[in-house]
Amino acid sequence: MISMKYQGFTFEKLKIASFDFTCCEGCQLQLANRESSLLDFLELLDIRNFRELSTEKNNDYDIALIEGSLSREDEVERLQAIRRQAKTLIAFGTCACFGGVNSLKNKFPLQESVAEVYPGMQIDTMPVRKISDVVKVDLSIPGCPVNKEEVERIMVHLATGSLITLPNYPVCFECKAQLNTCMFELGEICLGPITRGGCNAVCTSGKTPCLGCRGPSEEINMPAFIELVTERKLSPDDLQEKMAFYNAFEEFCDHEA
Ligand code: SF4
Ligand code: SF4
Ligand code: SF4
Repeated sequence: MISMKYQGFTFEKLKIASFDFTCCEGCQLQLANRESSLLDFLELLDIRNFRELSTEKNNDYDIALIEGSLSREDEVERLQAIRRQAKTLIAFGTCACFGGVNSLKNKFPLQESVAEVYPGMQIDTMPVRKISDVVKVDLSIPGCPVNKEEVERIMVHLATGSLITLPNYPVCFECKAQLNTCMFELGEICLGPITRGGCNAVCTSGKTPCLGCRGPSEEINMPAFIELVTERKLSPDDLQEKMAFYNAFEEFCDHEA
């Protein structure tokens, strides 16, 4: 057991390992960002396996961060082995939580698509699945990529045994606080009203509609949101396309569209 001092308090370091599956590794890279707090953050962790941050390779860990979705059979077996070791398994980022952008491939015939992109090659692939389709997930941290500030807060809560929560308000809340012009006023569908906040409305602040990478907010009113889109004479197909982008609104999607 290794202890450390973090912002004046003494904690036991978190024995942590991070594993990437089908993904871009952008979420893991986020943890190496935000230099102003990086050294303090690393003080919290006893890194056992995390190739973006350390050369250490040690299978004695308590917390497993799982980045990416599953798109090959061998990934399923690897994930199950990690689940057997980890006391706390965290779906880390939108790919892991919902399937993410990788899920778009599920909309196309698998073998034909592979043959078109990699002619003459045999590619071992299967329809994309989110982590919770295969193993029990103890905690989900959404975002494409994750918000480092939020991850740091959650790690401190894990170290101190405090209650872990995600924001229960939608992206609009943070967007309005920044006095942004609403994307609906600019004739665009934005998923901010139905998406969980916590990203500081980074997309809409850059005049890009929210595509819902953080998944559904709590107690969303989907009929009212669809009515808003209809009243504004915006395209229902565009709405379905946006909701399908990260596969985070699967339960609300019109699968016939
Ligand atoms: S959630 Fe986004 S940033 Fe993270 S691994 Fe997936 S594609 Fe990359
Ligand atoms: S731009 Fe999007 S997030 Fe911002 S207020 Fe409008 S609907 Fe909400
Ligand atoms: S604005 Fe929407 S798509 Fe962009 S980071 Fe936030 S939740 Fe994700």
